[in-house]
Amino acid sequence: MPELPEVQTVVNQIKPILIHKTVESITPVWPKVFHNFTSEKAQQKIKRGRIIDVSRRAKFIIIKFTENIIAIHLRMTGKLYLLRDHETLSKYTTAYFTLKNGGKLIFDDVRKFGRIYLYKNTGPIDERHGPEPLEKSFTSKILINLIKSKKRNIKALLLDQSMIAGLGNIYADESLWKSKIHPNSLSHKIPKKRIENLYKNIKIILTNAIEQNGTTIIDFSVNGKSGKYTNELKVYGKRDIKCFNCNNHIIKIRVAGRGTYICSKCQKKYK
Ligand SMILES: [Zn+2]
Repeated sequence: MPELPEVQTVVNQIKPILIHKTVESITPVWPKVFHNFTSEKAQQKIKRGRIIDVSRRAKFIIIKFTENIIAIHLRMTGKLYLLRDHETLSKYTTAYFTLKNGGKLIFDDVRKFGRIYLYKNTGPIDERHGPEPLEKSFTSKILINLIKSKKRNIKALLLDQSMIAGLGNIYADESLWKSKIHPNSLSHKIPKKRIENLYKNIKIILTNAIEQNGTTIIDFSVNGKSGKYTNELKVYGKRDIKCFNCNNHIIKIRVAGRGTYICSKCQKKYK
């Protein structure tokens, strides 16, 4: 599933193409793709709307019009890309935006979990999501507070979008490994110094991953290009491979219902 860096990569790719363009219409090929609105409402609200910005909030791609936003969540296998006029729709297309002066923005989704939302602004998304880890306003103090005030499994906490936005299985594992914290640690038992370290590492890892256009594991690519962060992964997907730090073998365990990669020697369990 695309996480913050992959969604940001999609935004970085489509923004220059979409900004200031006019959307003639949005067509659902598979009607359930519109989560909270109908085709009629889309016609009424978006018809001939000009795109004034394309951005990201949590794992949503936000297309901003003057009076509304369209938010797109890729979920497991969603892909957004531009199609030229002479090219045909793929059989996985669940919706498309027709642009004035040619071209279509395509939403392909093999597994059909991806959804499109229509809102006045990002308010409804902000309500359900924690802070953005790459924003300047996200300080180490905020993360310490967030982690220390809960008595929860640290990995489950990091994956909880209402706590902190954008982290998923890959970047949670990478951040915890780099910070030498076992994913089964209890949040309130983790020393402040370790959390400060985790704070730094989350920022570094996400920033590097965006620079590399994200991680391609199974189904993520932008315009057919792969994210290069796959080459930078230190622990995720590395079962039986030697730990970069200590040569111990990486193991795969189950934490918070998710396959989780750890070095049992480097990562300390705080209980
Ligand atoms: Zn190790």
